[in-house]
Amino acid sequence: MTTRYRVEYALKTHRRDQFIEWIKGLLAVPFVLYSQPHGVFEYPPSSPELGTSPPGSPNPVLIKAREEAHRRYAEILHDVELMIDDHIAHQNDPDNPFPSKLKLLVPSIGPFFTRLPLEAAFKFQDRKRYISSRRFVSPSFNDVRLILNSAQLISVTSTTPGSTLQLATFDGDVTLYDDGQSLEPTSPVIPRLMDLLRKNIKIGIVTAAGYTSADRYYARLHGLLDCIATSADLTPTQKRSVIIMGGEANYLFQFDPASAHLLSPVPRSEWLTPEMLLWDDRDIAQLLDIAETALADCIKTLNLPAVLMRKDRAVGIIPSDPAIRIPRESLEETVLCVQKILELSSAGRNKKVPFCAFNGGNDVFVDIGDKSWGVTVCQRWFKDAETGRPIKGENTLHVGDQFLSAGANDFRARSVGTTAWIASPAETVELLDELGELMGKKMS
Ligand code: IMP
Ligand code: MG
Repeated sequence: MTTRYRVEYALKTHRRDQFIEWIKGLLAVPFVLYSQPHGVFEYPPSSPELGTSPPGSPNPVLIKAREEAHRRYAEILHDVELMIDDHIAHQNDPDNPFPSKLKLLVPSIGPFFTRLPLEAAFKFQDRKRYISSRRFVSPSFNDVRLILNSAQLISVTSTTPGSTLQLATFDGDVTLYDDGQSLEPTSPVIPRLMDLLRKNIKIGIVTAAGYTSADRYYARLHGLLDCIATSADLTPTQKRSVIIMGGEANYLFQFDPASAHLLSPVPRSEWLTPEMLLWDDRDIAQLLDIAETALADCIKTLNLPAVLMRKDRAVGIIPSDPAIRIPRESLEETVLCVQKILELSSAGRNKKVPFCAFNGGNDVFVDIGDKSWGVTVCQRWFKDAETGRPIKGENTLHVGDQFLSAGANDFRARSVGTTAWIASPAETVELLDELGELMGKKMS
């Protein structure tokens, strides 16, 4: 699944990419003004101010253009950084009735748990991606997404008191392993996760995949679970620092070396939040019934090559044959259609039970609850070592791939903690390396 979706919607309210698009627009101006596409044709390189340089030496026109572009991109990101500081000051001042400048410019902007050092993050990504050296391709959506990720990592590992990372939560499909696959023992993600555990970071795997029994999760995550079980250097506490929150917020399993599948289920009575305790089984069943009817209608209306799958806490449609790809437009249409029907139903209007309808890449599911609840449960389960209270949003990082497609289930975690948006398991590896490096610097 790609991260760039260009499907036109009748309902625009779910668009989550406005902040990135807005920053991209700001960076397009210096790109147009400073990039020197003609510089590539000049050989030997020359310019009126810089003179002619001998063949084989770096082109001074291009070096100058790169430096100018770098300076302007860095200045713009510094200014956005200050705007975010101002936005944080507004959000933390209940007596201020006025929106921040950022809120006025980007109305969909959400809360910030930490500052975002965008200038430093840009300099880091520019060294990696040569953004300022490009003359034909302006700073892209992906460039900005990765700059935001780096800024978030710098922030959660900064030396500011109280800003230490305590809990990292991960989506499963597309984040830890390819869509529909499993975490195999050879996965390069595993040693990075082990490294986090060694540094006493708690790990929650918050996946929409909803199974009622440990064997199914073992099948998906065995590479990691076996590695933890056989590790000689992790302490028993570090080993117990891994939980799986399945079905977004519906099934909790904890690592258990004594169990056959290295996981034991935790009864709901031990982890439901006070709000979740109020979710009534009859309301849940009613909501899922409506979702099931709506999904069945979409199968007919759009002639989808799909079948229904009803579970106790979810209902979805999956391809009738695993080899079939359902068109992305049909998946998005189905999500938006089911979501609207649910929101307008009496069960949806009374808002007793939250739900999440999303496009999973080649399926559509409606889950009870969403990942904001799932991450909240992880924060309460592990607790802050010093205060004994739930781990705070600024000490939590959720890593996921779904921030843009309809339903965007990882985006929901944005309301309870900091987030990083990756596009593939390979990007997760890079992100974890960056995180490890920053944490190493902080410790040394
Ligand atoms: P995630 O990326 O780890 O959140 O997993 C999402 C995928 O899990 C979906 O696209 C489905 O393919 C799969 N899945 C399996 N069971 C469920 C369920 O009960 N609810 C939602 N998704 C499910
Ligand atoms: Mg995913």
